[in-house]
Amino acid sequence: MTTEQIAATINPWAVAQQQFDLAAEHLNLDPGTRQVLREPRRALTVTFPVKMDDGIVRVFTGYRVQHNLGRGPAKGGIRYHQNVSIDEVKALAMWMTWKCAVVGIPFGGGKGGVIVDPKKLSLKELEALTRRFTTEISVLIGPERDIPAPDVNTNAQVMAWMMDTYSMHQGYTVPGVVTGKPISLGGSEGRNEATARGAVYTVVDAAAHLGMDLTKATVAVQGFGNAGSIAARLIRDEGATVIAVSDTGGGILNRGGLDVDRVIGWKKEHGTVAGFPGAKAISNDELLAVECEVLIPAALENQISAANAGRVKAKIVAEAANGPTTPEADAILHDNGVFIIPDILCNAGGVTVSYFEWVQDLNRDHWSEAIVNAKLKEIMDRSFGEVLAMSLLEEVNMRTAAYLVAVQRVADATAMRGLYP
Ligand code: NAD
Repeated sequence: MTTEQIAATINPWAVAQQQFDLAAEHLNLDPGTRQVLREPRRALTVTFPVKMDDGIVRVFTGYRVQHNLGRGPAKGGIRYHQNVSIDEVKALAMWMTWKCAVVGIPFGGGKGGVIVDPKKLSLKELEALTRRFTTEISVLIGPERDIPAPDVNTNAQVMAWMMDTYSMHQGYTVPGVVTGKPISLGGSEGRNEATARGAVYTVVDAAAHLGMDLTKATVAVQGFGNAGSIAARLIRDEGATVIAVSDTGGGILNRGGLDVDRVIGWKKEHGTVAGFPGAKAISNDELLAVECEVLIPAALENQISAANAGRVKAKIVAEAANGPTTPEADAILHDNGVFIIPDILCNAGGVTVSYFEWVQDLNRDHWSEAIVNAKLKEIMDRSFGEVLAMSLLEEVNMRTAAYLVAVQRVADATAMRGLYP
């Protein structure tokens, strides 16, 4: 079976609950809190019609899940993908709760998705689907309630349509209802790069901790979209050599180093990194096993599983993607001495700058990119330090440490608020 086929057999919600259970056990959480945090607070399923370009009406299914609102409004992206499921959205929403807590920003966790392959839609159909989906989930979203953002296959344009649709319903412009908007509509400088930038900050921190010289390090990146392609560029800027990248079209390898800017240009032109001149074609399975110092999974869930974890040769796995490693794979990587920077820490730069965007929107303010990046670095470095300290203190791996920090913060907020009524 290929990595993709294996990934499809693993339920991300079961993975998310398993990761939570491990932390809850370690923290000795009381059974009531454990039950509350183990389930989403709200899960909305919507089915809605869209008139396609040929006049035919198609019905789509989408979801918006709010996992926990204890520390603030729900926050989390919207995914458009043919394999979206309620269990995937629940897992992603729970991970958002922990992510916001681990970096200490005042949000709970949410996530949304629509079952659709957006590459098969025209721009007009994509806009119609986005506007109707926004309308359907408008019973949940709002700048004080639940604030969506981009995720797989959604971008600043999709966020602009969401913001406009919500604003039309309100009768006035509400920029704070979504983040990841275009700069011209109240988007933040640096938001587009934030997930990758935050991830690279954590790689720099990990390398310093491990005594690894990044200027001598080689890097492989799985997934070449917003998170992956920008992470490749930024880690190259740190002096590392990117030798392999992949996307749904396949992978490419050049042990002497890939020219990242040219690969980005090639992907823009051809829709995939595959076929890039001067590089060897490799499969996504081979990419994960490439001899390198740093592996950055930046695609989808369950890519590193028990089936292939033993073949990972990287010393650092930096999880730009959400949920790329299964709990079984975690144990194998840990036993093999691989240092994992867990997703809820590694890719938290995206939601952190989303938080900055929301603050700017509410204050009708606009910060420079230098200010955004400096504030992001401060939060990523501090959070990495706190998780590393927990890992050393409790003698647990970085994922469990990140969960201990995050779940404790959410449990404390839950306890302080008390039980209503
Ligand atoms: P994107 O749609 O911009 O890019 C996804 C990339 O992954 C594409 O290049 C696609 O071809 C590739 N891909 C998909 N399936 C693959 C496979 N089986 N093998 C190899 N490549 C594959 O999405 P994105 O926003 O970059 O998101 C990627 C990951 O990062 C997701 O897990 C997402 O949840 C996570 N993430 C994104 C953000 C953000 O701000 N965009 C924030 C935090 C986490």
